[in-house]
Amino acid sequence: MSPSSRGEMSDLYPTFQDEVARLSASPEVRSAFNWFRAQEPQLAHWQLEMGRIAAPPFGEGPRAAWLAERFRELGLDDVRIDDVGNVFGIHPGFGKRYIALSAHIDTVFPAGTPLNVRQQGTRLFGPGVSDNGAGVTAMLAIASLLRSVRVRHAMPFVFIGNVGEEGEGDLRGMRHIFATPRWKDAIAYSLILDGAGADTIVAEALGSRRFEIIVRGPGGHSWSDFGAPNPIVILARAIERFCQTPVSAAPKSTFNIGVIRGGTSVNSIPESASMRVDIRSTSSSELERLERALRVCLDQSVQAEQYTAEHRSTSQRKTHAVTCEVVVIGDRPAGELELNARLLHVIRAVDAHLGNVAQVQRASTDANIPLSLGREAIAIGGGGSGGGAHTLQEWFDCSGRELGLKRILLTLLVLAGVDE
Ligand SMILES: [Zn+2]
Repeated sequence: MSPSSRGEMSDLYPTFQDEVARLSASPEVRSAFNWFRAQEPQLAHWQLEMGRIAAPPFGEGPRAAWLAERFRELGLDDVRIDDVGNVFGIHPGFGKRYIALSAHIDTVFPAGTPLNVRQQGTRLFGPGVSDNGAGVTAMLAIASLLRSVRVRHAMPFVFIGNVGEEGEGDLRGMRHIFATPRWKDAIAYSLILDGAGADTIVAEALGSRRFEIIVRGPGGHSWSDFGAPNPIVILARAIERFCQTPVSAAPKSTFNIGVIRGGTSVNSIPESASMRVDIRSTSSSELERLERALRVCLDQSVQAEQYTAEHRSTSQRKTHAVTCEVVVIGDRPAGELELNARLLHVIRAVDAHLGNVAQVQRASTDANIPLSLGREAIAIGGGGSGGGAHTLQEWFDCSGRELGLKRILLTLLVLAGVDE
């Protein structure tokens, strides 16, 4: 079923709602819902256990090994860890295309961060306990359910605990999956579990490009080498020019100069200076336009400073050589789910059935990768509630986790279709 127009889609919309209602009333889905309720102690146990295994960016190995063990215990097929550290497990079905249920296993916390993970009543505390303890736990809950309760579905599911979602990870786990021949075209839908809650649907991918720009020159004495090109001046000129670049309000685009460094002393012409620039947009072409503008401003500033140096220099030195190196330190592609995407209609129908209110949001998540490739993907929460993400005071409250799990299960089952 791949409706091509919105007209067609709106005719189908009630069909999804009927399908959700029919599934929810079936004995197998009702027992699945009861099973979720009974499993809460096990879920909290997994969440705490995983939270105690550090998973800094590029250091997810021990947590990946733990997750692969859980996948095996839960009877998933073909459990494996790929070249970059993503963990896979398969729950079979019919057909060659899969629904991916994924959750990132990395945290923002550097190695050595004290992980005082603990439980008080329904609350779990500790860095990463919600982001993404909540997502990974919800994924395990679904895998565990499919083993314990017979729930019919057609399409197969691939469970993925992926690396590299946070900061410097730059979506490397997801990027690798969608560059791998095995998965690139085999994943029809991506349901990404990130953090707590059931009140959001991330269907728009905020793109970003980040650069470290390093300008190097001959350096020199502030008096005797006066006139030699100055990397700090080059950066200052480039910033001044770049900040005059028009940015569009829709699609929303932004830029920021976040870090600037350079020089060694007040009476030295610096040998180098660097800055970090963040460009964001919901549109890939705007990202490209802003990047081009940044590069042009840098080139113009280098030329202007070299020209000035040649005409002003009193130095004996003949060299005014300046280099400008632009290093891409982050590249998250933009994209968005089409309004008539099946996945969006299904989750809407599920939310309507559950009486759940959720807002479509734009964010930078693992969904950026499939969305930028034109695939159907959303990121949603793993249920419960949470706060203090990316801080040592992070918490997760298990109350209401069931709603999130029901939402995930129904979405998967409607998407997969029923095997009858
Ligand atoms: Zn996250």
